[in-house]
Amino acid sequence: MDLNVPLRVVKGVGEKTTEQLSAAGLETIGDLITFLPRGYEDFSEVVSIADISPGKRTIKAKCDSISTRRVRRGLQLTTATLSDTTGKLQAVWFNQPYRATQLKGGEEFYFSGEFEFNYNRYQLTNPSAEKVSDVPISTDRIVPIYRAIKGLKSQVVRKILTELKPMITMLPETLPEDLVKQEGLISYSEALLGLHFPEGSDDIAKARERLGFEELFHLLLAAQLNKQANARLEGWQIPFDQPAVQAFVKQLPFALTNAQRRAAWEIIQDFEKPHPMNRLLQGDVGSGKTVVAGLAARQAATSGFQSAIMAPTEILANQHANTLSQLLEPLGLKVGLLTGSVKGKARETLYEHIANGAVDVVVGTHALIQQTVKFHKLGFVAIDEQHRFGVAQRQELLKKSKKLPHLLSMTATPIPRSLALTLYGELDISILDERPKGRKPIITKLWSPNSRAQLYELIDKELAAGRQAYVICSLIDDNPINDLKSVQAEYKLLNTGPFKHRRIGLLHGKLKPAEKDAVMKEFADQKIDILVSTTVVEVGVDVPNATVMLIENADRFGLSQLHQLRGRVGRSEYQSYCYLVTSTSQKPSERLREIEKSNDGFYLAEIDLKLRGPGEIYGRAQHGELNLQIATLGDTKQIARAQRQARRFVETGQDLLQYKQLAAAVEHYQRLTTLN
Ligand code: ADP
Ligand code: MG
Repeated sequence: MDLNVPLRVVKGVGEKTTEQLSAAGLETIGDLITFLPRGYEDFSEVVSIADISPGKRTIKAKCDSISTRRVRRGLQLTTATLSDTTGKLQAVWFNQPYRATQLKGGEEFYFSGEFEFNYNRYQLTNPSAEKVSDVPISTDRIVPIYRAIKGLKSQVVRKILTELKPMITMLPETLPEDLVKQEGLISYSEALLGLHFPEGSDDIAKARERLGFEELFHLLLAAQLNKQANARLEGWQIPFDQPAVQAFVKQLPFALTNAQRRAAWEIIQDFEKPHPMNRLLQGDVGSGKTVVAGLAARQAATSGFQSAIMAPTEILANQHANTLSQLLEPLGLKVGLLTGSVKGKARETLYEHIANGAVDVVVGTHALIQQTVKFHKLGFVAIDEQHRFGVAQRQELLKKSKKLPHLLSMTATPIPRSLALTLYGELDISILDERPKGRKPIITKLWSPNSRAQLYELIDKELAAGRQAYVICSLIDDNPINDLKSVQAEYKLLNTGPFKHRRIGLLHGKLKPAEKDAVMKEFADQKIDILVSTTVVEVGVDVPNATVMLIENADRFGLSQLHQLRGRVGRSEYQSYCYLVTSTSQKPSERLREIEKSNDGFYLAEIDLKLRGPGEIYGRAQHGELNLQIATLGDTKQIARAQRQARRFVETGQDLLQYKQLAAAVEHYQRLTTLN
């Protein structure tokens, strides 16, 4: 049985179909067999129009008339009258004008959608439509729906798969047999049959469990194998230089927290080992991660090694360069800043200094990973807000050294250990679970837009006392489609109204880098009282004198994002405040109430994880690269099971090459999480 056979050899697959399949990346039998349905329609309970009641319903009807009109910008409404022998009803679709072409011609369709009261009448909202003649009538009542392929309908895919069914039945197991047994999973072939030809929802659930487990197992096995491989890699050994580290700590304007000490010590010990460090430094907003990276850079420099510190935004790179210059230059180290806005001669000179070792610590954005940047002797790499970077970018930076440099990834996003393993491979974790001394918990309050006047009075008192405030809006410019606040409008409003006696700054992503810089610098130097900004300040920004964070349309943000924004204040001994102004004066949701109650990023991320999924919280880039079809990273129980099996596989010395498909998948993931 050869899964690499091209699809055109299958009965009924002509030239045109082959082309269409190929355009969708489906070339071989194997491709199609693993082309999984994106959903299912249940045609087992078709109701007649006369008997329909509100809820998710399926009818068998034809379309009598259909038309589309533009309701407002960005919204097209398609309305149709559907009929069967018992009566008529109305269906509507939003932004699906192609329905008119699809439904013309008077043929019968199954329509599945929500039958509900909307716009003053009962109607079927956004129903799916499957031609009755295309749906297999025989046994299957639950019909798989495949991702739309241009010009090719679900039923063609179903037909080809039906041809392939006998072959799918014979597919060999892809996982080790004993694992399948131990975990109580169904076989590979049963799982694919369950997804393509389900007889009930139970079949689908079991199939998903099996294939989801397999995906996680691939990922975690790759991590285990990389761990073994990384332990064999040769890195730079950097001996502990106690006087240098002590001198660094002594000149700090504060005492390190115990958590910072512990993390720093873990890094120093890793530096001494013969293989490269791969460590995640996890600490909630304001826990003081930057200084830990600074200390590590100091330690690296004692043995003549350069350090690179990469941040996701120019604003942040600038800030880190300032902070680290203050900490390191008095000790004789040279700190350089490389971002997109360093140009011309200055850039050339910087390249030179990086290449000849005149600069010890290079802080920068993605600009650091360009080909033209050559290091003299790169020994330590720190990636700040690492979830903002893709795997490839991390690897590009690591490549800039003859031997692998030590790697410190930093994040405020609380990642459960099991999840960190799947996302970043087998790494070591240091946790800053302690805030610097003297910090008061931030007081957080939900605020109705009706009582803005009182809120502005409270804020003005803080400003009068010499403190500063952020006002966050989600948009740059006003948008006629919705009534979210924009920074442009809000900037004008505050300037002319309640805060006309204060100095107000404006910051958003469309400003030129130099303009952003200038505004940030004015704010940091306390030349601006209120910074009206978009979420460009969401991560990392550190202006300790700012004590007020006001977020407009707060209900539009995720909890983790609100927590990050809130983390811009509470960075000094002053009491700080976070005001979450809701879009309407209606009672705020339970979800939003959580952030009022909790200052704990871990807790809030867990709620977000349930509500919005991991991509939202742990970085879309990295989550996307994993390309999981079925498994969800939110399923920590299944991750733990797969993790146990991956360990066992490695520890019992099983031969990966014995399992062809497994080996191929694992190799793919190994490339994602390897250091090398
Ligand atoms: P984050 O972990 O969010 O990246 P930062 O590194 O930006 O935090 O540090 C937050 C602020 O706390 C900075 O102004 C920093 O100078 C200060 N800071 C860091 N460590 C301590 C400490 N041990 N005591 C007091 N202030 C500290
Ligand atoms: Mg930070």
